[in-house]
Formats: sequence, structure tokens, C-alpha cells
Amino acid sequence: MTFGQRLRHLRRTRGMTLADLGERVGRAPSQLSLLENGKREPKLSLLTALAKSLGVSVEDLLSRQPPSRRAQLEIAVEEAQRDPVYRSLALPHLKIGKRVPNDVLEHIVGLYEELKRRSAKPTATPEEARRANADLRRQMRERGNYFEAIEKAAQETLDAIGYRGGALSQGQILAIVTHHGFTLRYVQDLPRSVRSVTDTRNRRLYLKRESLGMHSPRTILLQTLGHFVLGHAQPRDFADFLRQRVEANYFAAAVLIPESTAVPYLQEAKAARDLSVEDLRDVYSVSYEMAAHRFTNLATRHLDLVCHFIRNDETGIIYKAYENDGLIFPTDDTGAIEGQRMCRYWSGRQVFASPDRYSIYHQYTDKPNGTHWCVAHVDPSRERNFAITLGVPYKESRWFRGRETTHRTKSECPTGECCVRPPADLAARWEGNVWPSARAHSHVLAALPPGTFPGVDETDVYTFLERHAVE
Ligand SMILES: [Zn+2]
Repeated sequence: MTFGQRLRHLRRTRGMTLADLGERVGRAPSQLSLLENGKREPKLSLLTALAKSLGVSVEDLLSRQPPSRRAQLEIAVEEAQRDPVYRSLALPHLKIGKRVPNDVLEHIVGLYEELKRRSAKPTATPEEARRANADLRRQMRERGNYFEAIEKAAQETLDAIGYRGGALSQGQILAIVTHHGFTLRYVQDLPRSVRSVTDTRNRRLYLKRESLGMHSPRTILLQTLGHFVLGHAQPRDFADFLRQRVEANYFAAAVLIPESTAVPYLQEAKAARDLSVEDLRDVYSVSYEMAAHRFTNLATRHLDLVCHFIRNDETGIIYKAYENDGLIFPTDDTGAIEGQRMCRYWSGRQVFASPDRYSIYHQYTDKPNGTHWCVAHVDPSRERNFAITLGVPYKESRWFRGRETTHRTKSECPTGECCVRPPADLAARWEGNVWPSARAHSHVLAALPPGTFPGVDETDVYTFLERHAVE
């Protein structure tokens, strides 16, 4: 390709036609045209003749460096037109004659580059996903996990339906849906890759009546509504997708555990030295996880407490984590915590070993940079076993129910002397004599399939909408 472009460029700058050059080297113009279009390779004898006629060396003629910006553009447009992404536009092939101006070619190349970029998004490699998670967690820590604008949006929604206090009723939640101009349809055939579908043209929300994984129908409903209340546009990339999801989840929690009533409630409990996540869960009829996570939203801003939050599975793999109390999480080299295995002496793992893993478990853990008091719980109403941990620095334990616990462990993690490396005597006996076959990791930690909404099967969703739109 470059050779042909170069040949054409040299010929034209010397004011020669194909016929002129053909005459000098003793070839038909059509043969030279094939060379210039990259459809033939020249033999050495012809190369020498061409170089001589054009007044350049053979090396110059064969140089891989494109001869000019014009030639570069011509090459780029030719290559673009061969790209399947470009061909999917079904445009007629553009033949670049010399009267096509450079700036037109610049535009075509620019538009093609953008087309290529957009068609590639927002696919996230596991590394990108981890990096996006790490960035987001840093932002959350900087603001004490409190999002003022979302609190305000939630409060406006609650004011609009005349909320006074306590847990929200089903009627109040329906009033919220109506207030935002949506109608609700419960369906049985929701595509498997989604937790809800919204027909934005007809402002209809589709969801299932049953819980999906960790989320109850009313949580999913409010999360979905959150995207519209907060004015989310289609996600630009994976980081944007993730941020929107965190914000929508925050909105749902801020509606179900309103700041206006939860803060006075928690402040009173703190004054009585009787703070507890389970009470917050019971008062607002939410999951234990939502109550614990919501606590982290309000603790620093309104209770003058720093804290941490972890969700991990039975093998100690972390799925979700937050801290602004100096807890040092295990991380990979991108700074990501998700997918890492936490210390076996932390409460989120100890709770699985306790005699009754489903009761509330309290523990002090001595760590290299201080002692934390934590409350951990495995929610028995969930289909999969996850431990939820809420923890605070030692001196703040005095505000919490469960501070009198006698459970105490010592953790040296993240150094290898704690639990990352096996004990030396065990290792000496077994190293090199074992072949463990690993279980595949959960999909949440693996690469997400591409698409505007990562992991969502768009065909399923459109088919679903077709089916229901006619009702
Ligand atoms: Zn450890």
C-alpha cells in the first residue's frame, strides 16, 4: 500500500502521467496503475527503472515512511474503508481522485476514528473495571460517602408524596412512581440479563414481583427510578456506567431510609450508646446490607464517625468495600479491592466460623495500624451467603451495641506472615506436591460483555419490549 502511494506521489510531483512514466520504463500505463493501487508487487528490474526515471534511489522508493500528509490520508481512508465497522455503514466505495481536497480526507479519517472508538465502548476489561471501581471508591471516601445532591433529590421525592416517618409502604412507593410520571407493570418474562426494563417512550417500568438476588422488588424499582430522577444519560463508558449505578442505588437507599428521619433516630441511639445496624434494618424494613451501607452514608456527615463496610463471600473474596477509617484492604496493582481475598482473622470471615453464623457477630481485630471493632452478619434471607461487615476504629466502639464482646483476633495482613502465605512447616511438607483445580470466579469479577449497558442482552430486551408494547 505505502509503496503504491509513494510511487503515485513521486510521479505526480514530477508532473508525469501514467503514460509518461510508462513510456520511460517500457510498461503499459495499466500495469503501473496496478502498482500504484497496491495490486501488484514490482520486480527488482522494474523498481530500478522506476527509481531512475523518477530521480530517486531504490531505497527511497521502498521507504515505509509515507511520503506526505496527503499520501497518509489516502492510505488512512483506504484502510478505513476496509474496516468491517466502516463497511457496516453500507456506503459506496469512495475513490480518492486528486480533486478530493485534503480537508475532506481529514474529516473522513476523523469521523472514522470516532466511529471506531464508539463502536468499541463501553467494553470493560477486568482491569478497566477494577480501575473504575478504585477511582469511584476514592471519590466516595473524599466525601465521606455522602452525596448531597442525591439526598436532596430523595427528600424532594419524599416531600412530594407527603412522607412523615418510618418504613415506606407499598402505596407510598407507588405514589413515588406516579409522581415521576411512570406506570408500573409486573411481568414474568423479564429478560434474564436485567433487573428491570424501562420503556422511556411510554414511561413504563417493567419488573418482577420476586426478589432478584440481593434486591427486593421495591429496591429495584427505586434504583430504576433513580436513573431518571437523577437525569442519567446513556453511559459514555464503563466508569460512567458504574457511577450511575452507584448513584441510582444511593437514591433508592436514601428514599427507603430517609435522611430526615434516620439521622435523628441514629443520633439518639448514639447518645444512648446503642447504635446498631439491625435496628436500622428493622425500623425501615430494608435488607441488612442496605442498612449497613446506608449507615456509611450518614455516619461521617451526621454522627461524626469514620467507618468501613465490606461484603465478602464465604471464601473471603471481597465483592464490595468502602472505608474512611484507615482500614487497609488487600489490593491488586491497579488499586482494586474487588476480587481480593481478605484476612482470615477479620470478622467477615470469622462470622462464617462462629457457632451460629446467622446471628449478629461482634469482634475486635488488632491490625498493624490499630484496632477495629466490627459487627458482621450473614443475612439468612439471601440465596447466597455473603457476610456484611460494618466496622469502626476502637475508640468509637463505645457508641455501639455489642462493644462488650470478648471475641478478639490479631491480623498482620497484608504482610505474608499472617495468613497470605501458608505456615512454614506445612509448606515444607506439601510444596510442589499438590495440584489444586481452581473454581471459576464469579462473573462480577470477570470481563463484562460489551454493549451500551454492559452485560445486558439488547436483543432480549427489545424483544421483550415488542411483546409488551402492544398490550
Ligand atoms: Zn491475615
